[in-house]
Amino acid sequence: GPTVGVLALQGDFREHAAVLRSFGADVITVRRPEELERVSGLVIPGGESSVIDKLSRMFGLADPLKAAIAAGLPVYGTCAGLIMLADTVLDGITGQQSLGGLDISVRRNAFGGQKESFEVDIDIAELGEPPVHAVFIRAPVVETVGERASILGALADGRVIAVEQGNLLGTSFHPEMTDDHRFHRRFYDRVLATDFAAS
Ligand code: GLN
Repeated sequence: GPTVGVLALQGDFREHAAVLRSFGADVITVRRPEELERVSGLVIPGGESSVIDKLSRMFGLADPLKAAIAAGLPVYGTCAGLIMLADTVLDGITGQQSLGGLDISVRRNAFGGQKESFEVDIDIAELGEPPVHAVFIRAPVVETVGERASILGALADGRVIAVEQGNLLGTSFHPEMTDDHRFHRRFYDRVLATDFAAS
């Protein structure tokens, strides 16, 4: 299959790599621009977005990542990865930047800290039955959705936790921690359909 990258600056990148390998993808970890150049799709994992931001700039990856996103690279961001893909970050640390791409604002730690972590089943119409079992850990919430982005999922109270825009997909929660990999499958199908490296 195509080569898929997992941004491996910080966070739970190994779990994402295992899911993608189960689809038959050739998975590489991405820490340098040369590695980014080899991939047809990228997952940005959960972790700590302020750290991922800082390291991506230190490693000279932030600008190449922004360029790849603008050129249509399929990217799936979970939790901190969703924050990295948001055009606007609310409650970031001082000077925190994102890569952007998704026409949304996200609020970091919107549900509170580690002890406010929770799991819930969410109906995602685009994925059909059964509902997705979603794990939220110091999760962000999508606070505003611009007209270029579309909502894939929301909590019962209406708070948005899954969005899509072109080749960009983002979830507040962590499917790599469950056995339900339909979001990764949706991303990987997009990778297969886009054939980014060949374009
Ligand atoms: N709270 C973290 C952040 O702001 C995200 C938590 C996670 O990725 N599980 O980056």
